[in-house]
Order: sequence, then C-alpha cells, then structure tokens
Amino acid sequence: MTVTDYDVIIIGSGPGGMTAALYASRANLKTLILEKGVPGGELLNTAEVENYPGFASIDGPDLAEKMYEGAMQFGAEHQFGEVKTVIDHGDYKEVKTRKKDFTTKVVIIATGSVHRKLGIPGEEEYAGRGVSYCAVCDGAFFKGQPIVVIGGGDSAVEEGTYLTQFGESVKIVHRRDELRAQKILQDRAFRNEKIDFVWDTIPLEVLGDGQKVTGIRLKHKKTGEESVVDTAAVFIYVGLLPVTEPFKELGITDDEGWIITDDTMATKIPGIFAVGDVRQKTLRQIATAVGDGGQAGQEAYNYIEALAD
Ligand code: FAD
Ligand code: NAP
Repeated sequence: MTVTDYDVIIIGSGPGGMTAALYASRANLKTLILEKGVPGGELLNTAEVENYPGFASIDGPDLAEKMYEGAMQFGAEHQFGEVKTVIDHGDYKEVKTRKKDFTTKVVIIATGSVHRKLGIPGEEEYAGRGVSYCAVCDGAFFKGQPIVVIGGGDSAVEEGTYLTQFGESVKIVHRRDELRAQKILQDRAFRNEKIDFVWDTIPLEVLGDGQKVTGIRLKHKKTGEESVVDTAAVFIYVGLLPVTEPFKELGITDDEGWIITDDTMATKIPGIFAVGDVRQKTLRQIATAVGDGGQAGQEAYNYIEALAD
C-alpha cells in the first residue's frame, strides 16, 4: 500500500466534515481537516437552531464550537487551507491547496454550498452596504429601519422572522403566492405583526445613493406593474449553489454541480466520498449532514481495511 501523509483528508469543517472527522479519527485513522475559513460552516451564519436533536434551541456558533471540540477529541488535525484540486491516483489521492500539497488514501468532500445571487443591477454594487446574504452577521446594522427579504424558502422566512428584532418592518418578497418554507416557520412568520408578504413579485434592481441601499425596484409577475419600496437593507435568500469547482475534473457531479454519491456516501471514484449539502440530496439540514459525515467516516475505515487486504 502506498505510504501517504494521511489516511483521510476531509475538505471543509461544517457539520458534515466535523462529524466525518470524529468518526474517522475515532476509528484510529490519521485524519486531517482542511478548512478555508473558520470551522463551523453555515452554522456560523445561523442565529438559532431548533431542529437539531439534543438541543431545544441552540445558537449556530455555539453548536459549531461543540461540534468542533467533539471532532478534535480523538486526535484529528485541523489546518487552514483552501483546497484547489484533488487528483486521483487509484490507491492514493493528492490534495492541493494554494500553499501545500498532501497525499491521502481517502478524501471526504464536505465543502457545502454558497448562497445563490440574484444577478440584478445594484446587487453587487451594494453588497456589504445594505445588500446581505447573512442576517446574523448584518441584521443589527439596520435597527429601526425598513428591511426587505427576497425568497420564499426556509432561509428567507426564518431569517426574515429573525430580522424583525432589528427592523422597523420586514417585507418578504416572493415570486409565487405560496411559500416553500417549512409549515412551522410559515406559521410563525404569518403571526408576526412586523412581517408583510409581497406575493408574485420579483426584484428588478437594488437602488442606492452611491453609498448605501435606499430601496428596491420590484415587478408584479401577473400584472407587470413595477413599484419602488424604500428600504435600508435587502437580504437575499434565493437558494444554494454547490461548492464543487475544485472537483470539476473528477467528473463526480450532476449537471448542476452537486456531487452524486450512493447511500454509503461513496462517489464513483473509489476512496472519494462526499457528505452534507454538497451532495445531490433532497434535505439539506444539519442533522442530515451529520448523518452523512458519520457514514463516510466509517466507510473510510472500511475502504482502507480493504486496500490493505
Ligand atoms: P457547510 O456548513 O456549508 O460547511 C462547508 C465548509 O466547507 C465551510 O466551512 C467552508 O468554508 C468549507 N469549504 C468550502 N470550500 C472549501 C475549500 N475549497 N477548501 C477548504 N474548505 C472549504 N439546518 C438545520 O438543520 N437547522 C437550521 O436551523 C438551519 N438554518 C439555516 C439557516 C441558513 C441561513 C442556512 C443558509 C442554512 C441553514 N440550515 C439549517 C442548513 C445547514 O446550515 C446546512 O445543511 C449545514 O450547515 C450543511 O453542512 P455541511 O457540512 O454540508 O456544509
Ligand atoms: P431554497 O429552499 O432553495 O429556497 C429558495 C427560495 O428562493 C425559493 O422560495 C425560490 O422560489 C426563491 N428563488 C429562487 N431563485 C429566485 C430568483 N431568481 N428570484 C426570486 N426568488 C428566487 O433555499 P433556502 O431557503 O436557502 O434553503 C436551502 C436549504 O437550507 C434547504 O434545504 C433548507 O431546508 C435548509 N434550511 C433549513 C432551515 C431550518 O431547518 N430551519 C433554515 C434555513 C435553511 P420558489 O419557491 O418559487 O422556487
């Protein structure tokens, strides 16, 4: 068997990657997590989690810290590094970051997803100056001011509700007349007096004064009527895009870029697994990312045992 720097390299330290590290290191595999930012993934951008077993409610960053401690307790290592590419050499793989290269028997991809952009005028220009993709990070800047949220999924409705503690009002603008969000989140938002829904409406342009956001131009899809809503902030939650650019050459994604795995988290390349939001799957949640991570950590052990035979 080829001698490698590590048995397992996990790329990304959100809930999926951290759980894979826990399982792989507890199986006595020499395990490295490579993370390009702060460990925790999307948990760091989530105010309150109330659907993760064991906690009635917990702040996202607190859960991230607990998961990180758990992931490290059996000797896994963690290094800062943005993975640029992975090369498959059969019984070993090369993982390249900007500064360093590593060899490993198993790669577990846990790079998650990023927020989709609307691609409308003003969005990029006013990013960080009123346009935001993270209520937890930026909500407090808009105390007592009107806020607009775009989207109709769990993120828009849950984060829109969270934003009512800061904003004078929150308008949730959705392109249909029915939300995609979980029923419990919908009911909570419908009961909140600070939230107004703007149905069947799409955003056309973020407006500003050159310094900051001042409004948004909208269009009603059925009537074609355009309107301008004054607002200090536009929070955009219109879905996710997979982070799979570094793995393009491996040919393991579907047409939209999500990684295809079987139910053991194995991709079509032996020794390369994927877990969490980056996978082609129907439910992207902390609990499902954690389940994927546990499975892949164990499968890494099984795969390496079979290599040794
Ligand atoms: P992520 O958490 O996205 O972590 C991926 C990690 O990979 C990141 O740390 C990233 O920096 C790293 N990475 C990416 N590319 C590279 C690279 N090239 N090299 C090195 N590192 C890299 N789910 C719930 O169950 N309950 C909730 O209440 C909830 N609230 C949410 C609120 C919002 C606003 C959003 C967007 C999502 C929410 N979710 C919630 C979904 C949940 O956060 C995700 O399903 C979960 O975080 C996915 O975990 P993951 O490990 O797959 O990916
Ligand atoms: P999502 O479920 O994909 O919803 C995206 C929303 O944006 C949809 O309502 C969609 O409209 C709308 N949209 C898409 N493109 C648009 C465009 N160009 N213009 C206007 N609107 C557009 O994404 P998400 O809400 O970010 O959720 C992502 C994942 O995270 C999901 O798996 C979700 O369950 C999970 N999550 C979970 C929680 C929780 O459990 N508490 C919280 C947040 C997120 P249509 O409905 O018409 O398609």
